[in-house]
Amino acid sequence: MSNEEAHWIVLKFGGTSVSSLENWKNIVSVIKQRRAEGYRVCMVHSALSGISDKLEELIERAPENETGELVQEVKNRHYELGEALEVPVDELLADDFSELEHMVKGMELIGEASYRVQARLLAMGELMATKLGAAYVRRELGTGAWIDARDCIRTETLKDVSERSLILAAVSATDEDASVRERLDAAGDLVVTQGFIGSDENGKTVVLGRGGSDVSAAYFAAKIGADRLEIWTDVPGLFSANPQTVPSARLLNHLSYKEAQEIATNGAEVLHPRSILPARKHHIPIHVRCTQRPELSGTVISDESSDDAALVKTIAVRKDVVLISMESLGMWQQVGFLAEVFEVFRQYGLSIDLISTSESNVTVSLDPGLNSHFHDVRKLFVEELSGLCRVKVIESVSAVSLLGRRIRTILHQLGGAFEVFEEQKVYLVNQAANDLNFTFVVENEQAERLVRQLHDHIITQSGNQQSFGLTWPELMGEQEKDVRDQQPWWKEKQEQLLDLVERSGTSYVYDTDTLKKYAAMIESIDPVDYRLYAMKANANPEVLRTFRELGFGFECVSIGEVRRVLELFPDIDRGEILFTPNFAPRTEYGEALELGVNLTLDNIYPLREWPALFEDEELFLRIDPGHGHGHHKHVKTGGMHSKFGIPRFEIEEVAERVEELNITVRGLHAHIGSGIKDPYSWKRTAIILHEVAEELGGVDILDLGGGFGIRENETEAHLDVQEVASSLEQFREAHPGYELWVEPGRFLVAVAGVLLTRVTQLKGKGQVKYVGVDTGMNSFIRPALYGARHTIVNLSRLDEPNSQSVNIVGPICESGDKLGIDRLFPHAGEGDVVLVANTGAYGQVMSSNYNLRPPAGEIVI
Ligand code: ASP
Ligand code: MG
Repeated sequence: MSNEEAHWIVLKFGGTSVSSLENWKNIVSVIKQRRAEGYRVCMVHSALSGISDKLEELIERAPENETGELVQEVKNRHYELGEALEVPVDELLADDFSELEHMVKGMELIGEASYRVQARLLAMGELMATKLGAAYVRRELGTGAWIDARDCIRTETLKDVSERSLILAAVSATDEDASVRERLDAAGDLVVTQGFIGSDENGKTVVLGRGGSDVSAAYFAAKIGADRLEIWTDVPGLFSANPQTVPSARLLNHLSYKEAQEIATNGAEVLHPRSILPARKHHIPIHVRCTQRPELSGTVISDESSDDAALVKTIAVRKDVVLISMESLGMWQQVGFLAEVFEVFRQYGLSIDLISTSESNVTVSLDPGLNSHFHDVRKLFVEELSGLCRVKVIESVSAVSLLGRRIRTILHQLGGAFEVFEEQKVYLVNQAANDLNFTFVVENEQAERLVRQLHDHIITQSGNQQSFGLTWPELMGEQEKDVRDQQPWWKEKQEQLLDLVERSGTSYVYDTDTLKKYAAMIESIDPVDYRLYAMKANANPEVLRTFRELGFGFECVSIGEVRRVLELFPDIDRGEILFTPNFAPRTEYGEALELGVNLTLDNIYPLREWPALFEDEELFLRIDPGHGHGHHKHVKTGGMHSKFGIPRFEIEEVAERVEELNITVRGLHAHIGSGIKDPYSWKRTAIILHEVAEELGGVDILDLGGGFGIRENETEAHLDVQEVASSLEQFREAHPGYELWVEPGRFLVAVAGVLLTRVTQLKGKGQVKYVGVDTGMNSFIRPALYGARHTIVNLSRLDEPNSQSVNIVGPICESGDKLGIDRLFPHAGEGDVVLVANTGAYGQVMSSNYNLRPPAGEIVI
């Protein structure tokens, strides 16, 4: 391709990216690649990391003549990098260093710095850094022209804009600009220039506001009509939440400009909010990528919206928002009242972000970015506003926003997520008119927890794999090394498993080593005193034996389960069995009491209707904590619409009857559902049970239930077991008088089990391909019942590449008899062994003889 035809591409590298030799090596290889692809490269870069801060500090401290050390620090940073890059710093930066010293002296003399001087000083950071960078690039690539961005980015003198903004937060036009393009064309096909800086109509230096290098890069891209804008930074893209506080946050593979704008505006600091519009206007795709990991593809922002289904993409939080609540003094309905109120905001230069109104109150939030002067004007502003209404300033609150598209249309699906607000005070709810943003304002301390919970409910559990990529730890290879990250046990035991199928045919296989590993994780939750295995998940005798050996008790939900435990372990202490029936017939309660096992009532009915049965007995009570959690509505077991547990409003009556009948309530029990990844869930249950326990008196045991979530497939996050432990530790410190019990089921056995079945027939209906196997929903009903997604592999061909997308279906006469839909699969042949992973829980126990097809048997290894 000749230069005339070559297209430009803009690469922007941030402060951290340009501060080490290691990163510079990556930068050079990216530039090389782009040039090899035939692009001309305009590289825009920031000051070295932290230098803009130091220069701001210089401006602040100059009047006190305390700047000598700071100037030296700034110089040293450049010497250090220059040495690492092996470029001659003195030669390259001598003029800049002396100009810097000169300016600082001037500021000290005058005792303050005008906006003009501030802009010139701040611009030094970018000017110095790019001189080092350009020298390095030139040496490595043999080409590269340093260009002064001030010759390209001319800023506009807007009306009604303060002098400060015109100089320190300037804006430029976003039209194509032939003169800029010509300037770059003339400089060659690789230029290195500065972010952040420009010049005004008089040619004087201005800057674009902190973080403005992104904006510069977008201006360059717009002005020269670049094919693409790449923002290279120290994170691998934009995420579904801040990965620092939500480790399960997922990379956003693709965003529309509008979504990206909303995310950038609402707190993600990866991309400057003003950098999107110029790109959007010219349909220039933005790629956000990580300098340290150039092989990752990052986030792509473009108008090529893959689909426009409603979706929450990010949960963002902005801390330290200020709310102004205005209560009317009777003049509410008067025409012009709001106008008068807002006029006061205008007068004080306060920019309003969110608004929420009621009959007699208007509450607004101040845009945190734009109102740094609020504290200076607060007193006068409040005084003036108080003339119109009763004013309350609410501080230390955070705005938590759900960002995505067409959020209004999916609010009903968010029902479960909203349960998290039960214990929270919400100061303001705001739905953006563009339907891309739904915001709640809550206390600062609550914000992080709320974000984690909302994220868990809305994003982790959505199972959407198209929009959401890997988590930060997965991308950056920082996964904690626990057993859950090892490669699946069935890969290691492939040969053994294939042999087993050869001999025994289609079967469930349970791996005892894996059972033990998961048991150890539950045992590591220190504050828990006693663990029961909820045997309804898997009642295989050998599995039960393993848990008995490990010292677990048994939680049973039917008299049949109780009997099985007693048959297997006739000597077991009856106290190690907890029987928790739901709507069971009266006889089961009688039998349990006779057997002497712990018995849980989960309804007031037995006490009212069969009082004689329970007189003088010890009982557990199952309480409905009032909310439910879980991966699917069928597995939520708390809340009004769940059939489990005694509602809180009946506790008083329960207490009376307990007293009358001389019953001892030994323990309270709650179980709110399954597949829970929110580590605080058990502590919340403990708090609620504790309240009830105090009401009833005499309770020793709080059984917090199970529901410990596993990673159902490779796209999911782990439950943070340590966090469960430390939150329960806090509870235990606050309320040392209680024994804590838990009763996991699925968590203990799911991963240890696989279902092995064989391919019967293949079918292709055009694009839709079917792989038939010899058992289906008769053995394993979770996919049909809950839409559960289980990893499925062709165990006979583990090493062969996936070549097609298939549905894996069973032989049952039922169109829902599908084990997996749209799975990438290698070419399969009749007789191949297909493995369905994580089927150790609720597999065999839920199987049936439907169609008179016997379900898979069980083998324990
Ligand atoms: N150096 C400037 C700052 O730190 C601009 C940038 O890096 O984006 O604010
Ligand atoms: Mg930045």
